[in-house]
Amino acid sequence: MKTIVIIGGGASGLVASIYAKTDYNKVILFERNSVCGKKILATGNGRCNYFNSDQDLRHYNSSNRECLDSIITSKNEQEIMDFFNRIGIVPKIKNGYYYPYSNQAVSVRNALVTEAKRVGVEIRNDIYIDEVYRKDNFFIIHYNKETIKADALIIATGSKAFPKSGSDGNGYNLVKRFGHSIIEVLPALVQLRGKEKYFKDWNGIRSDVKLTLISDNEVIKEETGEIQLTEYGISGICTFNLSRFISRDLNENKKDYVLINFLPFVIGDPLAWLEERNKLVKDRSVSELLEGLLNNKLVKVILNICNISDTRKLSSLSLEEKKLLITKLINFRVDIVGTNSFDMAQVCSGGVPLTEVNLETMESLIQDNLYIIGELLDVDGECGGYNLSFAWISGMLAGISSRR
Ligand SMILES: Cc1cc2nc3c(=O)[nH]c(=O)nc-3n(C[C@H](O)[C@H](O)[C@H](O)COP(=O)(O)OP(=O)(O)OC[C@H]3O[C@@H](n4cnc5c(N)ncnc54)[C@H](O)[C@@H]3O)c2cc1C
Repeated sequence: MKTIVIIGGGASGLVASIYAKTDYNKVILFERNSVCGKKILATGNGRCNYFNSDQDLRHYNSSNRECLDSIITSKNEQEIMDFFNRIGIVPKIKNGYYYPYSNQAVSVRNALVTEAKRVGVEIRNDIYIDEVYRKDNFFIIHYNKETIKADALIIATGSKAFPKSGSDGNGYNLVKRFGHSIIEVLPALVQLRGKEKYFKDWNGIRSDVKLTLISDNEVIKEETGEIQLTEYGISGICTFNLSRFISRDLNENKKDYVLINFLPFVIGDPLAWLEERNKLVKDRSVSELLEGLLNNKLVKVILNICNISDTRKLSSLSLEEKKLLITKLINFRVDIVGTNSFDMAQVCSGGVPLTEVNLETMESLIQDNLYIIGELLDVDGECGGYNLSFAWISGMLAGISSRR
């Protein structure tokens, strides 16, 4: 009887274990925590955004993004949707974002664990696997005083992001022992840090904006949505979606900054638009004029930076002052000096290159019967269910292939 061992009982490992199990094999899943899927519980603010109907590859990042063509296919997407249906998850779909109808991430985690147990996966919790090597055609796994001989090994230990959930990056060492390389691993989907004194004054504000990331004077990416202004810089989903590029740029000593457009809805000349508004409200002070548009703490920050006292009327400003005010309203520059750490990151960029695995099976191209799945690979998606989508699909492919 074939034995398949999976290291890591998170999103990808649980799915792999279910697909790997047949009546004719033994599947053992090792998880260091006392429960599986701890990270799943934290996803989607506790609601688990587990899929997205728009699986265009532009939502994914990798040094070899073209390889994803073979993994994120409509056939695999459909199979994963059917799988979740089969294990009892009814989707609630909002603008293409999938959540369990229960609105609880715990439903997704529980459905996976229940199904793994039902099909006969042996889940061994509270076991940290550190010692594993190849001998002849087998994988030897040592833990406590036990030794297991496996025909196939699936490594699903996750990345270095959010280590309190169990994924502390030890998987990179495991795969290196089998000859794999690692593209440098950096925090992604994470907050951005700057050094400005005014951050303490805008802390706590939420604003609907357009963000533009500029690196070495080149526009890299634009995002529209809500951001949170914080005491260290900026946060929020559209900030997160820029962060993987910033992590990689700063690591290469590039200079990155973000331009914030606080008036993304204004079409045409913004000064003409503001002057028109001013006429409508019968020439108020600039701060009164802006208060109907922006959070009053933000108005103070902007007027301070422009050195415009809040009692002055728009009509009294010189053309230079008006231009500066408009720049701060629609092109507010924040120089980024770093990101928050792995502790705060939702995912990592970097990992095992996709060129080192068979893209149809997730089997290593270096060692037969070794499979690498989930975030351990060099794939990171935008916010919106893409990281879990990749974890499920890669887990499914490895599970199916490992049982053959
Ligand atoms: C706060 C937060 C919110 C998120 N929200 C979303 C979202 O809404 N939608 C989305 O698509 N993605 C989201 N993500 C990302 C998503 O959760 C991950 O991409 C996904 O869980 C990765 O799956 P994985 O199986 O590769 O790793 P993980 O889910 O991290 O699982 C790895 C498992 O391996 C175990 N392990 C590690 N090393 C060992 C070892 N040596 N021995 C035994 N066990 C080991 C760990 O304890 C862990 O349980 C979020 C992440 C975070 C942190």
